[in-house]
Amino acid sequence: MDITFYGAAKHVTGSCTYLKCNDKTILIDCGLPQGRDEKDMGEEFFFEPSLVDFVLLTHAHIDHSGRIPQLVKEGFRGEIWATSATRRLCDIMLSDSAHIQEMEAEWKSRKSVRAGKNKVEPLYTIKDALESLTYFKECNYDEKIELSKGISCRFVDAGHLLGSSSIELWLEEGDKKRKLVFSGDIGNFDQPIIEDPHYLDDADIVIMESTYGDRIHKKPEGSIGNNIPTIARARELALIVRDTFAKGGNVVIPAFSVGRTQEILYLFRYILDNNLLPEYPDIPVFVDSPLSVKATEIFASSIQGYYDEEAMKMVNEGINPIIFPSLTTIVDVEQSKALNFRKEPCVIISSSGMCEAGRIKHHLKHNLWKPESTVIFSGYQAGGTLGRSILDGARHVTIFSEQIDVKCNVVSLQGISGHADQQGLLEWIKAFKKKPKQIFINHGEAEVASYFASLVNKELKIKAYAPAPLETFSLIDATVLPTQIDTPLPSSVSTKLYNSVDQLINEREILEAVVSRMIKASKKTDLSEKDAIRLTNAIERLRSDIEYLGIKWYGDSE
Ligand SMILES: [Zn+2]
Ligand SMILES: [Zn+2]
Repeated sequence: MDITFYGAAKHVTGSCTYLKCNDKTILIDCGLPQGRDEKDMGEEFFFEPSLVDFVLLTHAHIDHSGRIPQLVKEGFRGEIWATSATRRLCDIMLSDSAHIQEMEAEWKSRKSVRAGKNKVEPLYTIKDALESLTYFKECNYDEKIELSKGISCRFVDAGHLLGSSSIELWLEEGDKKRKLVFSGDIGNFDQPIIEDPHYLDDADIVIMESTYGDRIHKKPEGSIGNNIPTIARARELALIVRDTFAKGGNVVIPAFSVGRTQEILYLFRYILDNNLLPEYPDIPVFVDSPLSVKATEIFASSIQGYYDEEAMKMVNEGINPIIFPSLTTIVDVEQSKALNFRKEPCVIISSSGMCEAGRIKHHLKHNLWKPESTVIFSGYQAGGTLGRSILDGARHVTIFSEQIDVKCNVVSLQGISGHADQQGLLEWIKAFKKKPKQIFINHGEAEVASYFASLVNKELKIKAYAPAPLETFSLIDATVLPTQIDTPLPSSVSTKLYNSVDQLINEREILEAVVSRMIKASKKTDLSEKDAIRLTNAIERLRSDIEYLGIKWYGDSE
């Protein structure tokens, strides 16, 4: 009984974990690496696909499902278990992914043949993708399935995407028993449309994601503690649209076709129904991605058991929660191009979510250089992707071999992230009624995963470890399982910290100047009553802030 971390170990994409028990081989997810991860992980499997008996698929996102067609192409003939919503989404996503593979191979081949080299074969074709779908078996949430003697599993709602799951796995080998939990991607609370992540009761060993293990999402105004009501998310989005439209710019939203796009549509319908932007009663919203259009149809067909209460209530009242009159869906390429010549401001939602491929690149090319436009990021941007460069503040980027200045407003809506933040992840662990013996942390950038593992160690007193790619562990002898020792803050966090310290040093002079001007003003003999009150209030505010900070940080000062 052992476990090997083939994919998303110290990486965010390419999820693929390998288990052996009773001569059976199980894969949890079989995802495609994206961005920089693609180069790190390469294209081959480090195991024999024909010897894999089961694939348990947590959810449909391509970084979890995208190599299934390749697995089948290379000999897999077992069973692929997923919830019915995941299976339906995979129907469209795997074919779409194959289409991208074929197009890329064709493009690379043309270059390669011109250089006198061989043609480039696609990783898999549409035919492979269609064939792989025949190996799927559907299950419902909370239903225990016996895969074979001594191996059972159960899918539980993970609140990350329609159909997304955490997976419980019961393994029995001889007289040894182990209960495993794979977190899958853990959703955020109060995400539109879908349910909140469900918590689990017990596990010996947990394998969990850590995408945002180093940060806390900024919560939009109007949030109540951890709860973010739909109106708070909608208002945050509405204000960005209002400011951008007032300048005459477009709002461009790169979004995963499946999941994020529909959640954003849900928010726009909410904005319009509740008249949150009275000055723009018909916000023109375009969804420009054939895959998004198909996925929206699946979401709109409201699969029983997958919607949350708020969305279900609407469906029962005969309202489609993600469709509204000023929404246009675009499949046709010409129509897509025409968007760039529109005179009136509009909202464009397009994929891919990390801006690596697809029509979003055209829309970025036409809007990044415009100071009046806004690009809104709403999902995780992996290292090495175009999306990450823009989000990290690149002043210019290269799109289709052309250098484009980034002058537009770039914002990130963390409040609508599909992933739990550090606090959400810790809460998810704390919710186990019986403390797990060991936690493996994966699905996070190297420094984030290690940092989160040492945090779990320290704060929750549970052995935690971020495995490196290809590391294998026996699940029988829990005592030899490793522990992460203290890992420093990820550089993304520490860089930010040092930058703000620099700023603080720069601004100390301003603070001193403000204080001396306040003192000077208070000594003026001709101060009006109104100014005196304002000055008193300002001094009080500043003084109480300083006092509060003094209490908070004094203990730490030397
Ligand atoms: Zn996902
Ligand atoms: Zn993921």
